[in-house]
This record gives sequence, structure tokens and C-alpha cells, in this order.
Amino acid sequence: MGGLVELFQQPAVAATATALVLVLAALTFFFFWRSTRARQVRDQVVARERRMQRRFEAVMSSTRDGIIIVTQSDEIALLSDVAASVLGVSREDAVGRPLSRLNLRAVDDRVHPIMLRQAFGIGSDDETPRIVGVPGRRGADDIRWVQVRARVVPEGLDDGPVTVVTIMDTSGLREAAEAISRSDAQFRKAMENAPVGMALVDLEWRLMEVNRAFAEMMGSTVSALRGTPFSALSHPQDLQAESDQLQRLYEGRQNRFSVEKRYVRVDGNVVWAVLDVGLVRYAGGAPDHYVVQVRDSTDDRMHTELMAHRAMHDPLTGLANRTLLQEVLQEVLDQPNPEQYVGVLAVDLDGFKALNDRFGHATGDTALVHVAGILRAATAGHGTVARTGGDEFVIVVQHEECSKTMYGIATAIHEGLKRPMPIKRHQIQLHASIGIAVADSDTIAGGAPTLLSAADAAMYRAKQTGKARTEVFEPSMHTASDTAAALVGEMAEAIDRGELVLYYQPILELATRTIVGYEALVRWQHPTRGLLLPGAFLPHLEDRQVSTQLGAALVDQAAKFLADGPSQHTWVSLNVSADQLGDSEFADRVLSAIGRHQLSPQRLVVELTEASLVAPNTRIRHELTELRNAGVPILLDDFGTGVSPLSYLRDLPVSGVKLDMSFVAGIPEDPAGARVSRALGALARELGLATIAEGIETEAQAEYLARCGWRYGQGWLFGVAQPAQAVTEAVPVVVSSLIDPRPYEATSLDAARTEN
Ligand code: C2E
Ligand code: CA
Ligand code: CA
Repeated sequence: MGGLVELFQQPAVAATATALVLVLAALTFFFFWRSTRARQVRDQVVARERRMQRRFEAVMSSTRDGIIIVTQSDEIALLSDVAASVLGVSREDAVGRPLSRLNLRAVDDRVHPIMLRQAFGIGSDDETPRIVGVPGRRGADDIRWVQVRARVVPEGLDDGPVTVVTIMDTSGLREAAEAISRSDAQFRKAMENAPVGMALVDLEWRLMEVNRAFAEMMGSTVSALRGTPFSALSHPQDLQAESDQLQRLYEGRQNRFSVEKRYVRVDGNVVWAVLDVGLVRYAGGAPDHYVVQVRDSTDDRMHTELMAHRAMHDPLTGLANRTLLQEVLQEVLDQPNPEQYVGVLAVDLDGFKALNDRFGHATGDTALVHVAGILRAATAGHGTVARTGGDEFVIVVQHEECSKTMYGIATAIHEGLKRPMPIKRHQIQLHASIGIAVADSDTIAGGAPTLLSAADAAMYRAKQTGKARTEVFEPSMHTASDTAAALVGEMAEAIDRGELVLYYQPILELATRTIVGYEALVRWQHPTRGLLLPGAFLPHLEDRQVSTQLGAALVDQAAKFLADGPSQHTWVSLNVSADQLGDSEFADRVLSAIGRHQLSPQRLVVELTEASLVAPNTRIRHELTELRNAGVPILLDDFGTGVSPLSYLRDLPVSGVKLDMSFVAGIPEDPAGARVSRALGALARELGLATIAEGIETEAQAEYLARCGWRYGQGWLFGVAQPAQAVTEAVPVVVSSLIDPRPYEATSLDAARTEN
């Protein structure tokens, strides 16, 4: 050992030994490093493989597709969980075993048993997916349909080729497809039998499929319409009706829309239809086709148009009504240069009221229709003819030679009316007064109403100057609206000046023809317009105060007439409007007039129409009861024209009724008028009411009414209404000598009431 130490102590040996040690140490370190590095690399590879495996499995489990990898030697190298579950086999049992040993039976799409290799397409180059059946979970008959696709990967495992099989369970898809085709069939069935028209329309707006209701609506057949462009059925004027909305629907700016438009049926008739359009899109959102519901709206439309027509036309004559007339007139006046081109004719029948009264309303209506025909023919398309009131017509003319044309029309109207109209064995001669006005700067500024009242004023002038004439408007004429407004404005002062006076028409007992009373009828002794009948001013009297003032003045006049009158037995019946009666002092005024003139209350009679009698106004009721209790008789005027049940009469505080003259007018020719007169007479007597018939113009009427039990009567046969002066001067005489004059004692209506 000492030798060895010594040896090392020798410098050369020591150096060599040191080098040797160093080399050894280096070698040791190198080998150590190398082995550590190799382990690290191995660990990294293992870790990476694990990561890959995890990722692979994650991918496998997250795809819908199952995967099987089969080696060249038919061994199942890999079976994903999804594949195991789709095929209904256990992964542990399958991996590492040959495919042929897999406990699985497959069938082809015709449900014939098939080898698994063949079913999965192992070893074939054909990569197209195939459908095979594998046993399902719900027993022997259940088959799950799977889609398989095989692909050979040349250097798959251990550098040998493998077949990668992907498996997809399609049973869900198949069920969905079956459901779709089932619901498609149901939809088609529903569509076929739907009562409403339906069409499937492609994106080019061509009819792909339509139902029977649709085909019927278009007057065609289902097969003829298939493939037709929808627009080919459209009314030419409505071609574009849906295009904007279709575009918006297509672009997804709206979900559906409806539109109403016209279609032309195969037979040429036009139908109105309401379309409800929706767009069906593919799952991805791309437009596929339109579903259109079509409802026939022709009836609704016609109804709407009919209503619109009714709102604008006179139902009796079919002529334009006042509303439409004003619209038309304003429209032509608004066009450039209406002066000289636009004019208006106002036409008013002469004596129409008398005709109506004489022959009844039905005849009056026939006459109006007859006149409407004459006006239409006379206008000959040069203007618009309108009926603006009972017997008032207006024609608006727009023509280059307006004045000349209007003269022509007026002349044609007078000519047309000359041919008599046959009515109930009579030949009736009608006449009209016509006023003409041409648009000028004044009337244009005032608009339609101004031009209309100018024509009216000319028409009034025609009436005043002899009727059956034509007059042209000049500014010196007062227009009708001026007249009405001016009259009513003047009225209060006119009453104070005593211009409103009562005229008295005699009332007789029909059997004896002795005068038993008078009806007081108001007249306006107008200083410039002459004698005005109540129709000219009473309807325009809307001022309640003036109305009561007039009522009060007339009560006084009537009382004075009775006091100074020709007989102390006759009565006077006074017409009273609801307005006059509504004033709480009316009864007081009547009673105080009776007191002042020391009259028997039975001699002042009040005439009221049914409308004011049945008014629910308690004040009116109170006034009437007060009068009635004081002994003032109340008569129901225009009896038979009212609307309330006749039994109502029993409860009203009335002493008698006045048969409306429209019933009298038809006697004896009109059997209905005669029958009604007889029935109403019987009814009134039944109720213990006094009976007075009005408007008696012929002896035949008087006799008939008397026979039917109408006790009293008045009318032109016995005398028109006359001023008080004329009556008091006349001696009450027996009008007819045919009937034995018999002194008449019971002058009070109440007495008549009990006697009846
Ligand atoms: P009314 O009370 O039914 O009067 C009968 C109308 O028939 C009167 O017209 C009378 O002149 C008319 N008449 C009389 N006999 C005959 C005839 O034989 N044939 C024909 N066709 N007509 C005949 P008038 O005077 O123009 O009065 C019209 C209406 O004015 C009256 O109908 C009445 O409702 C109302 N009235 C008249 N005077 C007054 C009054 O002083 N005060 C109120 N509030 N109303 C009045
Ligand atoms: Ca009357
Ligand atoms: Ca009357």
C-alpha cells in the first residue's frame, strides 16, 4: 500500500491517475445524465400520449358519430363509447376481439340478415354511407337504423392498414322524416278540404299547389291552376298590390301580411279577395315558398260599397243626396277657372204637398221617382242630379257652354213634365219652378253653399212670379238662406207689430153641416213678402223665446176672437208646439186669457201632435194636466200618423182626435185610406173621444166619413182659413141644404166626448 502511495507520489503517475479519475468521473456523469434524459423523454412521451388519448376520447364522446377501428386481421382495435352504445355492445368485450365474434346481428335495408363485415363495408373501397339495421332496445322487432361509412387508412396501426368505421344512429332522423311526411300529408289533406282558399306559391310567385276552394273562387280547377303565375289571375289594376309586401316578407322585414285585391275569374267576373301571406323558410333560414290563404271578400266589399252608396244617395230615386251633391259641387268649383264652366239648377215641384195630401205618400213617392227620371233624361250626362229634400232637386252642371246647357236642361225638364202622369185613373200634371245660377267670383269665394243658395233664390223668384218657370239668379235676389235667417230675425219685432195673425177655418158637424168651431191657423202678413204660410217660417223658428212669445200672442188673439165671435157656442182650437208647451207658463197664460175674456174653458181647445203628447217631458205633462183639469179640451192632431201604440191614447189627457188628412185624401178611391179612416173612427169612439176629420175637399169624402162615424169635419169643401174679420162678419150658416138643418146645442167637445 505504501508502494502504491509512493507510486502516486511520483509526479507522472499522479498526473495520469488524476486524469484517469477525471475521465471516470466525466463518464459517470455522462451516463447518469443520459439515463435521466431518456427517462424524462419517455415520461414526456407517455404524458403526451395520455393527453392525446384523453383528447381523443373527449372528441369521440362528444361527436354524435361512433367510431370503430378494425385492423387488417379483422381485430377490433378501438370502439368508441358512442359506437358501443349505438350497437348495443360492451366495449370491454369487443376491443381486441375479431369483428366476426362480436355478438351482433345486422340486417340490410330490406331487413335481410347480413354479415357484419359486409354491413360495415370493411375492406371495400366504397366510402358511400350505407344504412343498416341493428337490434334496437325494445325487443325482437325493434330495429335501429344506423348509417355506417367505412374508410381505409393505409398506415394506421403498426404501420398496417386499418378500416375506420363511423356509425351514426339515424332512427331519430327517420322518425322525424316520417313525422314530416305524415304531417305533410295531414297538411295537404287539411288544405284540400279547407273551406277557405289556400295556395302554396313558389318564390317566383307561381302557384305550386292550390285547394278546391281556391280553384272555385277563381272559377277554375286545381289542375289547371297548378303552375300558373299567381299574377295571371290578378285584376290588371291590382297587379302590384302585393309586390312591396312580398319583398319585405322575403327580406325578413315582416313575418306575414294581408292585402285585399281583385282577381278576374275565368268567366270574366271580378272577385275581391283578402290574401294572408306567410313565408316558409328552410331550417337555415333561406326562403322556400309562400303559404297563401285567400278569402272571398266580394260580399263584404259589395256591402261596404252599398253602404257607401246609401250614405251618398237618396234611397227612393237613387239620385245623389245632399251630402254627395255638396262634395261634387265643391270639387268642380275647386278646379281651375270654374267661372262660366260651373252652374247649378235648383228644381222645386209646384203643388207637390197638395198632391201628397190628396193621394197619399205612396203616390207622392211615385211622382218623385217619375220626376227623377225626367231630370236624368234632361241632364243627359251633362251633370249630376241630386234630390236634396222632399220635392227639391239640384243639378250641378260642368260644361264649356254652361249657361246654354243649363237653359237646355231647364227647358227639357218643363217639356218632360208636360206629359201627364197617370195616377189612380187620374192624369196628373206636374210643374216645377227652376232657378239657375252660374259660378262667379262671389259664389266661388263662398263655396258650394253660396252657389246653391243663389240657385235657390232664383227658384223662389220663379215660384213667386207664377210657377212652372225658370229664373236666372241676379245679385238683387235674396238667397234662400238669407230669407230664412232674415225672417226668423225679424220675427220678434213682427209679433210686436201684430203681423202674425190667426186665420180661422170652420169646423162643422158633418151630419147637420153646422159650424161648431174653428181651427186657428197662423199667417204672417209680411210687409214686403206678402202673406206667408206657417211652413215658410215656423220650421226655421229655433229660438225658444220667440216661439213662446208667438204662442202667448196667439193665445190672446184666439181668446179675443172667441169673446167677439159670431157665436157664444163655437170653440177655437189652437195649434201648440212642444216648444211653446214646454214653457212652464203656458197653462197659466191660457187660463188667464180665459179669465180675462170671461170665457167658458171648454171653448178654447188645444191641438197637439202625438210627438209632443207622448214626450216623456214631465213639465209638458204637468202643463197638459193643469189645462185638462181646468176644463180646457186637448185634441190629438194628425191622428193616425204617430208611432206609439194606439192603446196609449187611453192614458193621455185628450178629449178628441183629428184624423190626418192623408187618410182623407184617398177617400173613396183608395180602399186602404178608406178602411183606415173607418177603423180609426171606430177606435176613437170606442175610447170615448170626439172625432174630427181634416182636409175634406169633396162631398164624397164628407159623406163617407160621416157614415164611418166621424162626427166633425173641416176642409176646403166647407171653407178655407180666413181672417177673424171675415169670419165675424159672416153669419154661421148651414153649408149644405141636402141635410136637414138641426139646431146644434152641445158645442163643447167634452159634451161631444160623452155623447160619442
Ligand atoms: P195642421 O194643424 O194639420 O193644419 C192643417 C193644414 O191643412 C193647414 O195648413 C190648413 O190650411 C190646411 N188645410 C185645411 N183644409 C185643407 C184641405 O181641405 N185640403 C188641404 N190640402 N189642406 C187643407 P197651414 O195653415 O199651412 O198649417 C200648416 C201647419 O202649420 C199646421 O198643420 C200646423 O201644424 C202648423 N200651424 C199652423 N198654425 C199654427 C200655429 O198657430 N201655431 C203652431 N204652433 N203651429 C201652427
Ligand atoms: Ca191642427
Ligand atoms: Ca192636422
